[in-house]
Amino acid sequence: MGRFSDKVAIITGSSSGIGRSTAVLLAQEGAKVTVTGRSSEKIQETVNEIHKNGGSSDNINIVLGDLNESECQDELIKSTLSRFGKIDILINNAGAAFADPSGKIGSEAAIGIFDDMMKLNLRSVVELVKKCRPHLIASKGEIVNVSSIAAGPQPYIYYTYYGICKAGLDQLTRSLALELIPFDVRVNSVSPGLISTNFLGAVGMGDDVVKKTEEYYSTHRDCIPAGRTGKPEEIASLIAFLADRKSSAYIIGQSIVIDGGTTLVLGMPSHDLSKALA
Ligand code: NDP
Repeated sequence: MGRFSDKVAIITGSSSGIGRSTAVLLAQEGAKVTVTGRSSEKIQETVNEIHKNGGSSDNINIVLGDLNESECQDELIKSTLSRFGKIDILINNAGAAFADPSGKIGSEAAIGIFDDMMKLNLRSVVELVKKCRPHLIASKGEIVNVSSIAAGPQPYIYYTYYGICKAGLDQLTRSLALELIPFDVRVNSVSPGLISTNFLGAVGMGDDVVKKTEEYYSTHRDCIPAGRTGKPEEIASLIAFLADRKSSAYIIGQSIVIDGGTTLVLGMPSHDLSKALA
């Protein structure tokens, strides 16, 4: 008997990275999982991983589609209910940052980029929660959102729009938590720092640039005090903790930072003034 025996979970963005690791962990611990993403090849890799970790096809439901589309959201719920009969856990993990092809960054990036990021990172979550709400109330379920330390309070000027979306997501987490706790539905969130997934690749960086970026930050302890990027399994483990009523029943509406210490460091204290001013 695992922690999630008899539980049914929908994990968005489970064709890669953090979502995949979460689906694998929840399935390994007994959950029936709906896995989803746009790429059938990548979803198949997730299914293979679940199988490798002892999961059975009977406990896996696959939905391919674009989460921005209403039809995909509806199908996620309809097929989960028809395969497994209920929804206990909703993990809103799908998300991405998009670069402006013109190279403009921050608030100079095109407004269409802002719209695209808001649509995926925030609007799709609002819509999916609306649609799952009666089912989660019926099961006294759990929602875990995947936010980011880009939500602040420190600004990241390369990712201004992305940060705004995730800050909105954090406020959604708090508002939903208060709305839904009278129905015994819990809502929480995780805020990762830099995690080695396909995230930077999806921004448009080539493999070599991703590697150099991760190495650079990992070797600068004023960027990542832990001296390494995070692993998707580490985030999955925190998500599972928040999705498990027995472990975290009294945590309501929180966004838990998991970033190797990144948000603890400010540039100023990390520079040695005695050397700089000598
Ligand atoms: P990945 O790029 O590895 O995974 C992103 C997932 O989202 C994929 O499964 C992708 O599936 C799915 N996705 C993207 N767009 C859509 C869409 N339009 N419709 C359906 N699914 C979509 O990145 P991560 O695992 O790192 O990202 C997971 C979450 O973690 C995101 O919300 C991200 O913002 C957050 N995060 C990541 C950090 C990091 O450093 N990696 C740091 C902080 C937060 P597919 O391509 O098959 O459509």
